[in-house]
Amino acid sequence: MELNIQNLSKTYPNGIRALRNVTLNIPTGMFGLLGPNGAGKSTLMRIVSTLQESDSGSVSLDGINLLKQKDEVRKVLGYLPQEFGFYPKVRAQTLLEHFAALKGVVNSNERQELVDALLQRVNLWEARNQKLGEFSGGMKQRFGIAQALLGNPKLIIVDEPTAGLDPAERNRFLNLLSEIGENIVVILSTHIVDDVSGLCTNMAIINKGEILLTGDPSAVVEQMRGCIWEKRIEKSELPKYEEQFRVISTRLVAGKTIIRVFSESRPDSTFYSADVKLEDIYFKNLQTVA
Ligand code: ADP
Repeated sequence: MELNIQNLSKTYPNGIRALRNVTLNIPTGMFGLLGPNGAGKSTLMRIVSTLQESDSGSVSLDGINLLKQKDEVRKVLGYLPQEFGFYPKVRAQTLLEHFAALKGVVNSNERQELVDALLQRVNLWEARNQKLGEFSGGMKQRFGIAQALLGNPKLIIVDEPTAGLDPAERNRFLNLLSEIGENIVVILSTHIVDDVSGLCTNMAIINKGEILLTGDPSAVVEQMRGCIWEKRIEKSELPKYEEQFRVISTRLVAGKTIIRVFSESRPDSTFYSADVKLEDIYFKNLQTVA
């Protein structure tokens, strides 16, 4: 299975070019679409989900033209937006049954079985009789995934899903997505680098509507091995270093500033070699466009 996005462009009426000729081939697995706020991620996800029109380009999934065959899309797509409306007073199981009925599962035994299996899959079986309003952020997100899985989709899109989740909830949620990605295409749109580095099998970095890089996160990190250097400096020295070296990030540790520099060889003997992180690749790519 593969999702093919070809030369997608979108300019809003206010003149903002949200997407510029975006081309991506996304195989089965969990795909991380990584970019800062305003990069164009939601625009891209909404177009692929047919919630919005593009100006030009095409999107297909296993031969289905997603931009034209909109009824087909609804059969193959599960979409989990950043925020979705809930019925706070309804019990989880009841609501999922209701959504299953809306999806056309008319036989009540079949519906029951499907809903029970999904609640177990997303680890909400114990909480099935709780009202949605009593759910934590992570539980709501997992409920959203159960709902998205109802129609047996071939493609699941989740837009910025981990904002507001505590670390344990976030882990559980990402693991669930990764499991789902064993069989179908899962696109995880996020500005959080760590969401992508652990579990995604493929990724793209997007900024200002343009795809800057695509690849397997670990291979991308491997390619930059030996090119990231660190040095502890005084904060006041930063402008000097920025002038002289390709500083890609800085952080404060115990009152000192540590800079990370990109260089194919050791910048000078005062720098020490650092392990490459996906974040380095992210920052370096964002700088290229700035
Ligand atoms: P992201 O999801 O990566 O934060 P978006 O796709 O929401 O990015 O936005 C991309 C750009 O398009 C931003 O500059 C944003 O301000 C602009 N934009 C998004 N939606 C609209 C809209 N409905 N009308 C005008 N501009 C928009």
